[in-house]
Amino acid sequence: MFIESFKVESPNVKYTENEIHSVYDYETTEVVHENRNGTYQWVVKPKTVKYDFKTDTRVPKLGVMLVGWGGNNGSTLTAGVIANKEGISWATKDKVQQANYFGSLTRASSIRVGSYNGEEIYAPFKSLLPMVNPDDVVFGGWDISDMNLADAMARARVLDIDLQKQLRPYMENMIPLPGIYDPDFIAANQGSRANSVIKGTKKEQVDHIIKDMREFKEKNKVDKLVVLWTANTERYSNVIVGLNDTMENLMASVEKNESEISPSTLYAIACVLEGIPFINGSPQNTFVPGLIELAISRNCLIGGDDFKSGQTKMKSVLVDFLVGAGIKPTSIVSYNHLGNNDGMNLSAPQTFRSKEISKSNVVDDMVASNGILFEPGEHPDHVVVIKYVPYVADSKRAMDEYTSEIFMGGKNTIVMHNTCEDSLLAAPIILDLVLLAELSTRIQFKAEGEGKFHSFHPVATILSYLTKAPLVPPGTPVVNALSKQRAMLENILRACVGLAPENNMIMEYK
Ligand code: NAD
Repeated sequence: MFIESFKVESPNVKYTENEIHSVYDYETTEVVHENRNGTYQWVVKPKTVKYDFKTDTRVPKLGVMLVGWGGNNGSTLTAGVIANKEGISWATKDKVQQANYFGSLTRASSIRVGSYNGEEIYAPFKSLLPMVNPDDVVFGGWDISDMNLADAMARARVLDIDLQKQLRPYMENMIPLPGIYDPDFIAANQGSRANSVIKGTKKEQVDHIIKDMREFKEKNKVDKLVVLWTANTERYSNVIVGLNDTMENLMASVEKNESEISPSTLYAIACVLEGIPFINGSPQNTFVPGLIELAISRNCLIGGDDFKSGQTKMKSVLVDFLVGAGIKPTSIVSYNHLGNNDGMNLSAPQTFRSKEISKSNVVDDMVASNGILFEPGEHPDHVVVIKYVPYVADSKRAMDEYTSEIFMGGKNTIVMHNTCEDSLLAAPIILDLVLLAELSTRIQFKAEGEGKFHSFHPVATILSYLTKAPLVPPGTPVVNALSKQRAMLENILRACVGLAPENNMIMEYK
């Protein structure tokens, strides 16, 4: 059964006018390697840590500025939100289609809240905590192409034509602000697009972005802003001692107009200096060590990298299943045919390399979790190929072959062919990223013994379900398995309203 909303009644949870306060027992374990009577033993000790969570329930008016607003993702998301807000429907060759948010964790997925008369009761994910409604978000952003969003939507060739016609009047006056363009960082084939760029030194460009964000906030009367990079994939920037390895060196390099500081890093610096959350939806290393240090020192949320949309999402489910079933994946080969502008940009070796890196580590945690199947340091062969095929446009083909070793030397090969409009996968993920980033800035907590409430670590691991190569604070484990990432996010939000983690034990019926 599905219910729309619920309220938790518990001595551990207090709802006040502006806050939900919950006192929470976090059940965990402490693992130690101890010398017992001359031999070392692994000992696992269950422990309970008390946490206090408080969530500000005042939902702000949110502005979202996209870097690469006029791209396929940016125009598709903007169109989708308007279509939902305006309740637009359109004729396809199959039926009359209503706007929806399918593919969005926060808008279209559900959580289990319990059982009632022998039936499982589910509620919308968004009913856990008050979240910004996308209808109320003001979108804006930058692009190095000055094309208005209605034309950009047409250029993207993603949405049905009848829908495009209805959306055009809403979008033709939306024009991206000029962007920071550095041809050294993206493919040369993007040059002809770059007709709207911010001039000046790197320092002047950072100042320009800061001014843009202040003006946007002022003009649209938004309380909070989140910025997200959905622009072209850049090449990796070199991390060099003295250049971008520390916060001081990075800021000095901006002043000195050092060429190796990438546009994405410049946008991110501007955001961190303004205390505005910045999320990187592409694979490049925007977050060089100096930037991470800057974000930590200013306690400003940063999250990334690279949207976890199609192939990688499947991979982090399938390999988790295989390894969890005691089956040994030995070879994973992924081909992509992509015909949109992203595909064209990725046809240059340097930008492809960024994608290859972010796609390549996604099974590491699963492989490392099973020492029966894999020797220490052993990995399946993992190859990623991306080819630009203009005809398929945004409709990406992902072909994957997984070969595994099964019982008694047997071999199992699974082949998958996934066809889907890439931007229709990415757009709802962008929405989730900005809505969850905003929500996470309203949550504070403290563990027992900690004097003061504090926010989450500025490197937002809570967003990892949505990212291909989750950025984590130094010394933190990287989790790629999709079910674990979702459980982490859901369980933390459940903790904020005093609900235990979903343990699937259903003891009531055993
Ligand atoms: P796109 O090429 O259609 O859009 C990118 C836009 O960014 C373009 O309009 C371009 O003019 C603009 N741009 C480039 N450099 C800029 C800069 N420095 N400042 C401002 N604007 C700039 O690409 P897309 O399909 O929308 O994808 C966007 C990004 O998202 C890509 O890097 C892609 O790899 C990443 N991504 C997409 C998916 C997906 O499923 N669609 C998944 C993971 C990651």
